Amino acid sequence: MTEDADLGQFCCEELAEAVSPDPTASLIEHDSGLILLNLGEREEEGETGVLLATIHFCPFCGTEIQTDEDIEAALGSVEETFN
Ligand SMILES: [Zn+2]
Repeated sequence: MTEDADLGQFCCEELAEAVSPDPTASLIEHDSGLILLNLGEREEEGETGVLLATIHFCPFCGTEIQTDEDIEAALGSVEETFN
């Protein structure tokens, strides 16, 4: 077994454990492969939605996990899902 076992696309164990496909999780693994930071619910013009931010670097070890290009390419499907 290597050190990278079971981390999949993730740079470190902390991130792999923190990220969840659950849209209520703090760090969300979107279907598109993007990692999104959940900033919580916001009410705007009478509608409640979840505010999500894209992150470039792993909050645990600082590895660049997604680039502007990755985010841009995947963002369309993110908006469809969460709006
Ligand atoms: Zn990491």
